[in-house]
Amino acid sequence: MAEYLGVRVDVASNDPEHREFLEHAGQGRFVLQQCRDCGRLRYPIGNACPFCRSLQWWWEAVSGRGTIYSYQIVAHGIHPAFRTITPYPVVLVELDEQRGVPGEHDGLRVLGMLVDEHGRPEDEERTGIGLRVQVDFADLGDGLALPRFRLSSETPEHPVWRFDDRQGQRP
Ligand SMILES: [Zn+2]
Repeated sequence: MAEYLGVRVDVASNDPEHREFLEHAGQGRFVLQQCRDCGRLRYPIGNACPFCRSLQWWWEAVSGRGTIYSYQIVAHGIHPAFRTITPYPVVLVELDEQRGVPGEHDGLRVLGMLVDEHGRPEDEERTGIGLRVQVDFADLGDGLALPRFRLSSETPEHPVWRFDDRQGQRP
């Protein structure tokens, strides 16, 4: 049985895309859907291409490397099981693949939790926009894993931006 934070993980039988996504992660592969018609990668997971509406796609392995584009610190768990790990950072990562597509300000952005080298939620003080990350996997059991991110040793892409709660202002 797959579980996360002690809670059973069920993937609906009519949702093969999400099951396959988690199965690939279970084998250490971070994959996204790539349209067979226009060739673009996409996220979140879905049936149709948001760019050309094609229903034809395949899984494509991506590097899992990218830059934190935005983030949020979750202070209240969405489920009682999450109480044990709050506060935790959720990051929106712009992957190195497909930057500036289809427009200058677009990119291939994926969501995930930011964790430290032990798999625990990363400290808020160490989270920030512009930091480089790489994919990591939370083992769910039953051959499934959930992609998430951890900080990489790479130099930040630009000066790191953080929300400074003590100052109560956004630069
Ligand atoms: Zn397409």
